[in-house]
Amino acid sequence: MPHHLPSVDRLIQALRATLGPTLPHALLRDAARAELDAARTAWRAGAACPPTLEALASAAAQRVTRALTPSLRPLINATGVLLQTNLGRAPLSAQALAAMAQVGQGYANVEYDLAAGERGSRYSHLAALLTQLTGAEAALAVNNNAAAIYLVLTALAVGREVIISRGQAVEIGGGFRIPDVLRQSGATLVEVGTTNRTYAHDYAAAITAQTALLMRVHSSNFRLSGFVHEARLSELAEVAHQHHGLLLLDDLGSGTLLPTAPWGLAAEPTVQASVAAGADLVTFSGDKLLGGPQAGLIVGRKDLIAQLRRHPLARALRIDKTTIAGLEATLLSYLRGQAHHEIPLWRMLTTPLEALHARALALVEQLQAAGLRAEVVACQSTIGGGALPGETMASYGVAIQPDPAGASASAQRLRLGAPAVIVRINAALLICDLRTVAPAEEPDLVAALVAALTA
Ligand SMILES: *Cc1c(COP(=O)(O)O)cnc(C)c1O
Repeated sequence: MPHHLPSVDRLIQALRATLGPTLPHALLRDAARAELDAARTAWRAGAACPPTLEALASAAAQRVTRALTPSLRPLINATGVLLQTNLGRAPLSAQALAAMAQVGQGYANVEYDLAAGERGSRYSHLAALLTQLTGAEAALAVNNNAAAIYLVLTALAVGREVIISRGQAVEIGGGFRIPDVLRQSGATLVEVGTTNRTYAHDYAAAITAQTALLMRVHSSNFRLSGFVHEARLSELAEVAHQHHGLLLLDDLGSGTLLPTAPWGLAAEPTVQASVAAGADLVTFSGDKLLGGPQAGLIVGRKDLIAQLRRHPLARALRIDKTTIAGLEATLLSYLRGQAHHEIPLWRMLTTPLEALHARALALVEQLQAAGLRAEVVACQSTIGGGALPGETMASYGVAIQPDPAGASASAQRLRLGAPAVIVRINAALLICDLRTVAPAEEPDLVAALVAALTA
C-alpha cells in the first residue's frame, strides 16, 4: 500500500499549485508528511483504498491553512458577562486602539524627554493623569495587578510582617492566592480576626516591631453576608499611622474611577475614595472596570512610589509602549468626561434597557426572516471578572431555537464559526444577551447564527 501513495515531493508540488509559490518549503513539507503519515496509519487500521493525490493535497492544504490561522482571534461575547478573564476582559476604546496602533507602528518618546533631548522615564506618561484622576501624589503602572501587589510586598515588606484580615486572605482566581503571593515576596502573613468579622482593634493588637504594613484586599469575587464586619479603610489608616512608619496597602482589585451605584449596581469602591481614606498605596487593574488594556496601577505616596520604581523587580514587571499608549488614551477619556461614551465597558454598562429591547426586536426580525425560530427575552447581565460579585443588570437578548442536534451541539458550532460566538444556554434555548454585543457586531452575529443553525 505505501508505494501507492505519492511521494512527499509530488504532494508538495500539488500544494504549490494550489497555495502559490511564496510559502516556505518546510511548511509545505511538514503538511505533506503529516498527511502521508495519516494515510499510512489509516491503511494499517484497515482503510479500504488509498486516497487520491487530489484528496491528499486538499487535506494537506487544509493543514497549511490551519497552521497559518492565528490561534488568538476575536469573538462575539453574547454571554452578558461584561468582564470575562477567559474572553480577554475589557474591550478597548477606539481612542485606545488608535493610540496603540500609532505608537506601535513607529518610534515614540517612550523613555525620551523631548524638551531636554535626553533620557526620560516611561512612567512619566501616565503619572500626571493618574494623580489628577485619583488625587494621589504619585503613580506607577506595571504589567497587571498581581504584579503590582507582588512589587509592593517585595519592595516594602520583605522579611517583615503583613497584617491581613482572615476574611481577606483569599484566592483571586487563576490560582492567585494572597497568602501565597505574600510568602513568595518574602513577607510573613499575620492573619487577624475571624473569617466573618474583623475589627480595627484586631489589626492594632497584632502590630509588632516586625510589622511592615496593613493590607486590605477588596472582596471582589465573592461576598460575605449576614453576621459580618470589616474594618473601614479610614480606621485602618488611623491604626497604621498611629504607629510610626507603618503603611496601609489597599488592593482594590478592579477599582473604578466612576461610581457604579448610579447604574443600579452596588457601590464598587472608587480609587479616589481609597486615596482619600488614607491608604498609602492603592493597587488596581487596568482591564477591569477601568476599561483599558491589561495593567496593574499603583497610586499613592510619592516616596513609596519612588522606592517601587527603583526596585529591580520593577524592571521585570514594566509595561510596554503600546500598553502605555492604550492606558493613556483610556485615562484621557476619563479626564475629558467622556468615559461613559468612549470606553466600551462603560458604554455597555450604561446602555438603557429600552435601547437593548429595540435592538433585540430588530435582530429577532432578521433571524426570523432567515428561517430561524427566535424571540426577544429579558435576561440578566453580570459584571464578572472579579468585580461586583452577585450583581446583575436587567438586559434584553434573543432566544433562539437550536437546530435538531440540540443546544450544546449548536453552541459548539457557534464557537467554531467565524467569527466565533459565545452564547448562554437556558431551558434548551440559545440566549444572546445584547448588552455585551456591540451594535457594530450585529451583522456578523446574525450571519454567524444563520450559518451555524441553518446548515
Ligand atoms: C483581579 C484581582 C487581582 C489581580 O489583578 P490582575 O490585573 O488580574 O492581575 C488582585 N486582587 C484583586 C482583589 C482582584 O480582584
